[in-house]
Amino acid sequence: MFGPISIQRLSLVYPTLRDLIMQLETQLSEPIGVSQGLRSYPEQEALYAQGRLTLQKVNALRKAVHWAPMTKAQNIDKVTDAQPGYSWHNFGMAVDVVPFESSGQPDWDEQHPVWQEIVAKGTALGLVAGVAWNDRPHFQLTGKFPETPTDEVRATYTVEGIDGVWRAANENV
Ligand SMILES: [Zn+2]
Repeated sequence: MFGPISIQRLSLVYPTLRDLIMQLETQLSEPIGVSQGLRSYPEQEALYAQGRLTLQKVNALRKAVHWAPMTKAQNIDKVTDAQPGYSWHNFGMAVDVVPFESSGQPDWDEQHPVWQEIVAKGTALGLVAGVAWNDRPHFQLTGKFPETPTDEVRATYTVEGIDGVWRAANENV
């Protein structure tokens, strides 16, 4: 069973993806949580800035999206190569999950065998895992679209919003 925060995050993602993540959860030997689902353009901008802009600029972007400020030490590593509009998270079409230890704390150790189980079972359900682009366990379901959102997706989003992107993704799946 997912906890309330995970359920809330899942409520904002592409329904077909949400259903598959819920199905995945029932198949796993250990509990998982949803660490990220929908990520807005301004949130993506704040994330992209990390490790690229000064701490002051990064924290101004974080403040704008109600994220806690980070320290100078945290602002060293880049965490994404995706600018706003270039991650499926920006369209609610990607979900990151994380296993929980029995203590209830997230287990970020990627050597943990359950991480392999998550990726294997998620892939078997038809989800695309993000192992290749260092974002894991990340799953996405993009319908007719490729691994990275296209100009077509961004244009649809600008005109029709997220519902338009979901409708387009549903075509020719
Ligand atoms: Zn992700």
